[in-house]
Amino acid sequence: MTDCIFCKIVAGGIPAKKAYEDEWVFAFHDIHPLRPTHVLVIPKKHIPSLAHVGPEDEPVLGRMLSVAQKLAAENGSGDGFRCIINTGRIGGQEVPHLHLHILGGPEPVGPMVTKLKENA
Ligand code: AMP
Ligand code: ZN
Repeated sequence: MTDCIFCKIVAGGIPAKKAYEDEWVFAFHDIHPLRPTHVLVIPKKHIPSLAHVGPEDEPVLGRMLSVAQKLAAENGSGDGFRCIINTGRIGGQEVPHLHLHILGGPEPVGPMVTKLKENA
């Protein structure tokens, strides 16, 4: 998709700090890191979100997860990390190209999500 910012990063049209690349996936450092380790792993193919995948995407989805441990270890999070895939409006997804956030660093990442007010 030509107007997709992450497709442009894969194609080299927008600069990014590359962390990894193979035939299926591309990884780069988040431009606004939320933790000392904050790497995004994306499929090279334009898939809008996790709500748009099918069985044919299982190889690339597997690859996105299987490279996460290597990327975490290489980028300062060898003792553990968190993977997040925000999906759609409810999931808080901002960029409509599927991406896996790898978050970590020397300190624990913190609570997974905050409690909803009505459940507090
Ligand atoms: P999400 O809210 O899950 O869609 O996350 C989108 C992420 O993409 C955010 O953490 C942004 O900081 C990151 N991001 C947006 N544009 C760029 C860019 N040009 N290079 C690197 N990261 C980006
Ligand atoms: Zn795209």
